[in-house]
Amino acid sequence: MFDLLNQACDAAKKAGCQFADARYLAIRKQRVLSRDLALANCSESDDRGFGVRVLYRGAWGFASSPTYNAEEVANVVALALREGGVKWAPEEALKLTFKSKCDQNPFNVSLEDKADLLIASNEVMLKNKSVKRAQGYLLFKKVQRWYVNTEGSELHSDVTSSESVIWAIAVGKDDFQERNWQAPSSNQGFESYKKEEFLVQAERVGAQAEEKLSAKLSPEGEFDIVTDSENLSLTIHESVGHATELDRVMGYEVSMAGSSFVTRDKKGRFQYGSDKVTLMADNTLENGLATQGFDDDGVPGQRWEIVKDGVFQSYGTGREFAHYIGEERSRGCSRADHWSSIPIVRIPNLFLMPGKEPLSPDELIDDVKYGLYFEGMDSFSIDQRRLNFQFGGNAVWEIKNGKKAGMLKAALYQSCTPTFWNACDATCDENYWQPHGVMQCGKGDPMQIAQMTHGAAPTRFRKIRICRGRES
Ligand SMILES: [Zn+2]
Repeated sequence: MFDLLNQACDAAKKAGCQFADARYLAIRKQRVLSRDLALANCSESDDRGFGVRVLYRGAWGFASSPTYNAEEVANVVALALREGGVKWAPEEALKLTFKSKCDQNPFNVSLEDKADLLIASNEVMLKNKSVKRAQGYLLFKKVQRWYVNTEGSELHSDVTSSESVIWAIAVGKDDFQERNWQAPSSNQGFESYKKEEFLVQAERVGAQAEEKLSAKLSPEGEFDIVTDSENLSLTIHESVGHATELDRVMGYEVSMAGSSFVTRDKKGRFQYGSDKVTLMADNTLENGLATQGFDDDGVPGQRWEIVKDGVFQSYGTGREFAHYIGEERSRGCSRADHWSSIPIVRIPNLFLMPGKEPLSPDELIDDVKYGLYFEGMDSFSIDQRRLNFQFGGNAVWEIKNGKKAGMLKAALYQSCTPTFWNACDATCDENYWQPHGVMQCGKGDPMQIAQMTHGAAPTRFRKIRICRGRES
């Protein structure tokens, strides 16, 4: 597989390129969707091709093709050549093979077993009288990647990832409510999905969808909030992950999704959050969705602090961007979602470190006289500089005198990124820390979709503005 890729790099070198790399990808996907007591859809795809990226007279050029032979490789290299002004961080040549953990290849599991898992879950959710629709899906992806560059790197990865969500829709008088459970999304195989767990979660999700119908409307005002790990994962993604992508800070994403308030003068001194807030980037995290051995600049996965004890430390970078902040080496965040896509800086696996002192969720809530508890992800919005935002929750409870009380609906928390993270006064210890996957992170123009893992333990924020998303 490496021969034609090396031929592409040799041709680029001969043409006078400072750097070139070539990637071949084989992407296999399968999606199984259930609706109530039947399978609604099942699809599978197998997509292969290669891309060549060249750094020629200071500019990037990129071209790709699904046809993989010597003649087409020469055509693609010729197409990629153009001129401009890029500074490229040095990197050692690397020989590496990375394989994600996969005990049970999901492509070898029968469709019957997959349908059984989903439909059995739907059946449990539909036992609730007001649940009128129950759905679920399983999505499996296997990406095999071969990478070479003109520096002599020769890399291969084989990554299998699994994703699943089940959800129930309860219908009441003039109202309907949805409650879901996101099974762990990770770089693992079918072994990470156990039927017993799906059934337990289906029972809970079905009952809570029904309960949401009679939830009272959220109050408005300033209250303490507690977030579960899934809810906070999305807030981490949007208010920290995207805000600290260095290409975005440098204006490369302005035309698509905006810039960032985390300007370069803030590095090493900006109070991003309270001293309880340490946000770790880790592309070596076991089973993490962004753990792929190496990035598409040929840089191995790394672990570093984005925020340490509240203070902003550094960004997610690729080799093209490291020099803008005086760093000698890339953090290895450059990824492309397809053989026809050019690598761009992507959010790494990024999580809030658990508290150092022993603290359980009950103890965390015990110190809230009146507040709101947010679980799961719901709609959100954030401005183009990643500063002002609002987030909902898939289920929200009132906290009264240190205890979780009744469910609320239409609750949203609104804040500004540094105000929010500086209002964090406690997070539970490592026993309560959980990872959550973001599977549909869109970035770039044309848009690319990436996956990464976030995580947190239940966490408390003091005096956050709460508003209602709707009035009935
Ligand atoms: Zn995103």
